[in-house]
Amino acid sequence: MKKTQVQSEFFEFDSIDELNADDRKLLEEAKKTVRDAYAPYSHFQVGAAVLLENGVIVRGNNQENASYPIGLCAERVAVFAAGANYPGIKIKAIAITASSNEFMIDQPVAPCGACRQAIAAPDPASCREGVPVPSRRLCKLRGIREIFPEQNFSTHSDPAIGMVADGKA
Ligand SMILES: [Zn+2]
Repeated sequence: MKKTQVQSEFFEFDSIDELNADDRKLLEEAKKTVRDAYAPYSHFQVGAAVLLENGVIVRGNNQENASYPIGLCAERVAVFAAGANYPGIKIKAIAITASSNEFMIDQPVAPCGACRQAIAAPDPASCREGVPVPSRRLCKLRGIREIFPEQNFSTHSDPAIGMVADGKA
C-alpha cells in the first residue's frame, strides 16, 4: 500500500487593499450582486463575479426556489451565464461573497462540490480565491485545484475563484 497526500495552500491578507487591482475589482463586483440574491429560505446570500479572459466580468447570485432542489448557487449562475453569453471565452478568475441579515458568517465560504466541478470544467486559465470573514481576514487560493484536486476530466485547467464573507448585510 502506498499513502498519497493531497495538500491545499492559500494565502491570507489583512485587508482587501492588499489584493491587486484586478482581484479587488472582482471582489467588489461580487459584492454588488450579493444583495440581489434570492435567498428567502436559507437567508444566505451569495454573490459571484466571473472575470473572463476578454476582460468582461459576469455576475451571478444564488437563486432559491420553493421547490428547493431547483435553486442554483451563485457560482454556477455566474459560470453558466458567462458560458451562455460569451461562449468559448475562458474564465480567468471568480470572486465569491456571502452575506446574511439573519446570522454572522464567520467561516470562509467555499464553493460546493457541484460548483467546483462547474468552475473547473470550462478550462479556465488560473485560479485565485479570496475569503474575507467578519474579522476581515482575506484568503486567496492559487487555483481551483487547491480545493478540487481530483477532477473528473483531464482537459481541465486551474480556474480562478474569489470569495468574500461579509457577515451581516
Ligand atoms: Zn454551489
